[in-house]
Amino acid sequence: MTTPALHLEDAVKLQKVLELVRGLDLTAETQKKIRNVFESEMELGLAKNPPVASSLQMENTFLPKLCDGSEEGDYLSLDLGGTNFRVIWLRIKSGAVVSEAVQYYQVPEDVRLGPGVKLFDFLAECIHSFMDERQLKGQNLPLGFTFSFPMTQRGLDVGILVSWTKSFNCSGVVGEDAVKMLNDAIHRRGDTDVNVIAVLNDTTGTLVQGAFVDRKCAIGLILGTGSNACYIERADRIEKWEGEHKDVKEVVIDVEWGAFGDNGVLDFIKTEYDKEVDRNSLLVGSFTFEKHFGGKYLGEIVRCVLVRLTKEGLLFQGKTSEELLQHGAFTTRFVSLIEEFSQQNFFNCEKKAFNKFLHFRDNVNGVDVNTSSSLKELGLNFNKDDIDIVKYICWLVSDRAAILVSICTASLLERMDRPETTVAIDGSLFKHHPRLRSFMEKYIAAMAPANKFKLMLAEDGSGKGAGLIAAIASRLKKQQAH
Ligand code: BGC
Ligand code: MG
Repeated sequence: MTTPALHLEDAVKLQKVLELVRGLDLTAETQKKIRNVFESEMELGLAKNPPVASSLQMENTFLPKLCDGSEEGDYLSLDLGGTNFRVIWLRIKSGAVVSEAVQYYQVPEDVRLGPGVKLFDFLAECIHSFMDERQLKGQNLPLGFTFSFPMTQRGLDVGILVSWTKSFNCSGVVGEDAVKMLNDAIHRRGDTDVNVIAVLNDTTGTLVQGAFVDRKCAIGLILGTGSNACYIERADRIEKWEGEHKDVKEVVIDVEWGAFGDNGVLDFIKTEYDKEVDRNSLLVGSFTFEKHFGGKYLGEIVRCVLVRLTKEGLLFQGKTSEELLQHGAFTTRFVSLIEEFSQQNFFNCEKKAFNKFLHFRDNVNGVDVNTSSSLKELGLNFNKDDIDIVKYICWLVSDRAAILVSICTASLLERMDRPETTVAIDGSLFKHHPRLRSFMEKYIAAMAPANKFKLMLAEDGSGKGAGLIAAIASRLKKQQAH
């Protein structure tokens, strides 16, 4: 490998670029610190009287058992929270989904940001039209509601919203039970016959669906618009759990890691770009961790870096474009596209130093259609240097995403300490980013060397899982009645 001859001017320019993005490159020491903080926040989150409040909710989902194979019947599920809202009709036989019908609906912005009652009326209307089109009226189907926001759960069918996240901010819902609000909306209509019997987080749905496919599954992870995970915890370690649950040995805990750091414990990783992303976000000052890599934010982080570098005269000959200056214009789709080309063409660098950058650019060959078409779409004029730098930044930001998720996943693996664990993963970011999975495999293996694991895509886990949980809930109800 020959190092490309660089003009002094180029070298100085590249040093400046690297200087401005250095904070995105998490050192081994910083990674260790994040892990320690995460582990102590988990403990505090499970404690009964923590000396200081944790940013991790560690919420009890009240889901003690996964499917036992006896679940039967027709169920509806709703999936609200991320990119799409869906209504799903599932037929379950012997604990397995044997057929399903799915319908996607767009939740309009004024509904996402308006009064809560309107949102639930909208959901009820979608359920109604879904059932109407499929002649499902009059069947009183049990419904599992995937509500992918932080909730306080008082049982399988009570979920009190703690805060909105991602793209939702409806008034009058925080502090209210989402199940009750949905049931009320259904009753207000008076023409829709369903029975909401379980509410769940998307991570829980993913875990249940994953465990159905693979018995070793013990973590449900979402890498989508937002991010979060749940895992199986020993009941005796949940100090804060009050009331009667003597017979329960294990229960699913929803970590709510999106909010990790909201109490300031992660301030040491925030770069100027992360702070800017937060300032421009819908819910400023919340969901610190998620804003470092969630699908809603990944592209925006890259955009903030590109704007800064351009303003410093280090990219695009110092000329931004109207598009580049617009919040949200550089979507995560661009990052995935650009990373796709990186996958085919480069390197597997371990160290993100200057020499490695030279190595990186020397390995770029051919015309990178993905990067150039993305930059064109953004109305930018660019040369080959610009392309290299943009790709380098997309890689850095993606790599950091993988490191952050891997740190927490490795902590969960070590905490459960099972001989083998399957991690069920769902979400648009995981599905579409071409390299995240391989980065994560590499990092988790290094971070939890004693714990064997497998990453498994649990496609539509949150939707199918809701149906399965509704089935589990029906089964538990019947058992209680006897
Ligand atoms: C929510 C979580 C959810 C995650 C993934 C976060 O913003 O707080 O409850 O699991 O997004 O959808
Ligand atoms: Mg989802």
